[in-house]
Amino acid sequence: MLIIFGFRVVYFTLARGVFHCPNCGGDRDFRRRQGRNFFTLFFIPVLPLNKTGPEIVECDTCHGRWTTAVLAVPTSAQLSTMPGVLLRMAIVQVLRSGDSSNAAARARAVEVVRQAGIEYDEAALDADLGRSFDDIRVEMARSADTLAPEARENILRAAAEIGLLDGPLTFSEEETLNAVGADLALTRVQVTGVLSLARESSGR
Ligand SMILES: [Zn+2]
Repeated sequence: MLIIFGFRVVYFTLARGVFHCPNCGGDRDFRRRQGRNFFTLFFIPVLPLNKTGPEIVECDTCHGRWTTAVLAVPTSAQLSTMPGVLLRMAIVQVLRSGDSSNAAARARAVEVVRQAGIEYDEAALDADLGRSFDDIRVEMARSADTLAPEARENILRAAAEIGLLDGPLTFSEEETLNAVGADLALTRVQVTGVLSLARESSGR
């Protein structure tokens, strides 16, 4: 009897999701896949061997394949909510550095985030206040450079105005606003300008 054997690469799907496909130029479903060499007997993979390389991301539509680095590019859906998400994170940091129990500041924070199109309430605010500082900063830095400078300045200004609701900015609030400005990829001059505008309009 003739035994036919050989080798073949078999791809396994590890995860699925939505990404920005560079080839299609829009949001598409993807599979995250890992290839593995198999020893085949009569063309049937029977024995798994080594992995063929790093995981790949494959577009369901055009079947283009990329490294997982492609997943760092925000999708259009993420981009449309990004100003709201950044706003929310900026506000939380400022609230936390001041009096986060101040009722007027909390109510205004919830209102401003809602206006940006995100469902938000006091419970969600408390959950955000409990998040780790580093966590929030990493997320902000990743998102900030996708927004126009004016949008980033507006976010900082909204956060500053909330910090000003319970009185002049404390040293700690001001430090935080400077850090938030840096995370929003704003220059020192831009940050100073935004803070003085916020102070002027609040009269503090
Ligand atoms: Zn595609």
